Amino acid sequence: MILGKQGAGKGTQCVRLARHYVVPHISTGDMFRAAEKSGSAFGHKLAEYMRAGELIPDEIVLGVVGERLDQNDTKSRGFILDGFPRTANQAEALSKMLAPRDLDLAVDLEVPTDIVLKRLSGRRVCQDCGTNYSFQSRPRVDWTCDVCGGEVVQREDDTEDAIERRLKLYEEQTEPLIQWYLERDMLVAVDGLGTPDEVTARLTRAIDRRRAHNAAHTGR
Ligand code: AMP
Repeated sequence: MILGKQGAGKGTQCVRLARHYVVPHISTGDMFRAAEKSGSAFGHKLAEYMRAGELIPDEIVLGVVGERLDQNDTKSRGFILDGFPRTANQAEALSKMLAPRDLDLAVDLEVPTDIVLKRLSGRRVCQDCGTNYSFQSRPRVDWTCDVCGGEVVQREDDTEDAIERRLKLYEEQTEPLIQWYLERDMLVAVDGLGTPDEVTARLTRAIDRRRAHNAAHTGR
């Protein structure tokens, strides 16, 4: 499970980690954006929270995550969680959902706030597959996704007001989870600065080390 401010690179890195370990990438933000795109009444309701940078109520989030974790692929192969848990209540609920097992590891992907602000204002995403781009790393052809050919746009919640609100909520609600996982000896901090390849290498090192440790000590 990866914690980190908006713009720390969680989405990009989780896609890479999911490929590396061949496990599902479970991103609550991606699931909610897909629900929004479906045009359902449920999707419209979620979009209102997202556009304002507010958190979606726990009962909705827990229902969606619970269903996803109950599917066979996550049960048999494991998973990477991106954007969940984001509150103490969600962390406790997750722990209960996974009992008697638990997460292998919670990673805090560390990037200073001034850097994430710069990254977020330049961030562009494919509206079909969610691949991230920026002014520094544009798609090869105009703003057309290299992966799927979708249109590459600015996220609706990457506006100045929504970014400010999301970072405030991160500090208030999500940052305390660093302490929560630290107390349970499940947390590793990883430097999120550098090229995507450098960060992926740091992450896989941290994850491999922890999985070896867990296998030797707890049989997890
Ligand atoms: P993300 O793509 O992770 O930045 O998530 C985009 C938006 O989806 C957030 O700003 C929230 O509105 C909503 N969201 C995603 N994950 C959660 C969560 N675990 N709890 C509450 N809201 C969430």
